[in-house]
Amino acid sequence: MNATASQLIRGYEVVIGLETHAQLSTASKIFSGSSTQFGAAPNTQASPVDLALPGTLPVMNRGAVERAIRFGLAVGAKVAQHSIFARKNYFYPDLPKGYQISQYETPVVQGGVIEFVVGDTAHKVHLTRAHLEEDAGKSLHEDYAGQTGIDLNRAGTPLLEIVSEPDMRSSAEAAEYAKTLHALVVWLDICDGNMQEGSFRCDANVSVRKPGMPYGTRREIKNLNSFKFLQQAIDCEIQWQIDLIEDGGEVQQATVLFNPTAHGGRGETRAMRSKEDAHDYRYFPDPDLPPLVIATDWIERVRAAMPELPQAMAVRFQRELGLPAYDALAVTQSKAHAAYFEAATKGCQAPKLVANWMMGELARRLNADSRSLDQSPVGPATLAALIARIADSTVSNNGARQVFDALWQGESTDVDALIDAKGLRQQNDTGELDRLLDELLAANTKSVDEYRAGKEKAFNALVGQAMKATQGKANPARVTELLRKKLG
Ligand code: ADP
Ligand code: MG
Repeated sequence: MNATASQLIRGYEVVIGLETHAQLSTASKIFSGSSTQFGAAPNTQASPVDLALPGTLPVMNRGAVERAIRFGLAVGAKVAQHSIFARKNYFYPDLPKGYQISQYETPVVQGGVIEFVVGDTAHKVHLTRAHLEEDAGKSLHEDYAGQTGIDLNRAGTPLLEIVSEPDMRSSAEAAEYAKTLHALVVWLDICDGNMQEGSFRCDANVSVRKPGMPYGTRREIKNLNSFKFLQQAIDCEIQWQIDLIEDGGEVQQATVLFNPTAHGGRGETRAMRSKEDAHDYRYFPDPDLPPLVIATDWIERVRAAMPELPQAMAVRFQRELGLPAYDALAVTQSKAHAAYFEAATKGCQAPKLVANWMMGELARRLNADSRSLDQSPVGPATLAALIARIADSTVSNNGARQVFDALWQGESTDVDALIDAKGLRQQNDTGELDRLLDELLAANTKSVDEYRAGKEKAFNALVGQAMKATQGKANPARVTELLRKKLG
C-alpha cells in the first residue's frame, strides 16, 4: 500500500530492493563451535570446520535456526518446516574453501512484510525471503605495508540474509525500511545491530524506468553499513543511471561500491565487477548437511516466547496512555526508546509530556552530541522527576529546559535542588500574585482600556508585564486565568 504515487526524478521512477545481512547473535558459529566474538586477534577463531578442511563436517547451530524462526514470526512470514542448505561456489581471497553454505531454492523464511512511515505516508515492503548462511572472512588492507592480510575469524559467523521485493521508490523509503528492519532485529534480540562492526549491512539494488515501463536493469551497491551512506549511495546511483540513459547509454547489470568521499564529498558509485547471475554460482544442495527440519512444536515454543512487538506496543500506548499515534510510534522506534519510555512513565501521570520531551529536548541534545539513547546523561528516572515538576506547576517549561540543561551538563542529578539553586520555582501563591496583578492593572489603565475595546494584543502585553515583574517566576497559565477573571 504505497499510498502515494512515487515521486519522479528527472522524469524517471526509481525502483529499489534491499538485501540485508544481519549477523545473528549466537555465541558460536553457524556450523562449528568456534567463538563469534568480535575483535579477537586475526585467525584465532577459525576452526577446521569453518575452513572446510578435509575430514570435517558442519553441524547446524540450533540458536541460529531459532533466531531465524523468531524473525519469520515477527514479520508474518511462512517458516518453512523443511529447508535446504546449498553451496554457492565462487572463489575470493576471504573464502579460501571455494564455496559459501547458504540456502537457495528453499529458504527457511518465506514472505513477510515490513511496515514503516515516511513523512505522513505509510509504506509496506514485502519480503521475498530470509535465509540462513555463513559469513566469509575479511581482507585487511590496512597495517600490512602494501600487502593484504586475510582474517578468517568471521568465516562461519551466522547470517540471516533478508531479501526484499523491489517495492521501494525512493532513497528515503529505502533508508527508513533499513532503519525499521534494524530496529526489529535488535528488538527481537537476534542481532546486536552494531553497524560499525558490520553486524548489519545492506546491499541496495537500484534501477530506474519511465513510468509505466517494465523494470529497468539494476545495479547492486554492496556493503552499505550506515543509513546515511545507504541513502547517499542510492541518490548517487540514481543520477548516474539517469545521466547514462539520457546520454543514449544502457545500464549494464553490475556490482558497484560506494565511495562517499569522491567528487569533494558528493560521492560516487563505481563498478567493482559485472554482476554474476545465479547460474554462475553452480548452486547445489550441500552433501554434508541434511535438510533443516523444524518441528511444529519448536515453532510454537518460539511463538510463545516472542516479546511484544513494536507495533503492538505502540497500539497499547495509544489505548492505555492516550498517546497520539505519532508519539506512540516515536517512543517505540527502537528497543532502547521503548525501555526508556516505559521506565520514565512508571508511576508518572504525564506520559504525553514524557513523549514530548523524548521527541523534543532529549532527541535534540542526543543528536547534537551524537549519542545514542542509552548514552544519555539524563536517565529516565531523572527525566520523570523533572516532568513531575512541570506537571505540578513547580517549574515552567522554560525553567524546565534550564534544569534539563544543567542535568545534561552533569551539574547535579537532583531536580528539586537545581530548581531552587537556579531560582526557577514558579510563584503559585495566588494571594501574592493577586496583589501584584491589581497593582499592575492600576498602573496600566491604557492597556486595560484597549483590551476592553477588543484588542487581544493588549492582554498579551499585560501577561508579559506580569511575567517581567516576577522575573519569569509566575506561572503563565495562572497569570492568564487571574487576569481574565479580573478583567471580566
Ligand atoms: P541476486 O541474488 O542475484 O542479487 P535477486 O533476483 O534475488 O538477485 O534480487 C536481489 C534483489 O534485487 C532483491 O531485493 C530484489 O527486490 C531486487 N531487484 C530485482 N529486480 C530489481 C530491479 N529491476 N530494480 C531494483 N531492484 C531489483
Ligand atoms: Mg544480490
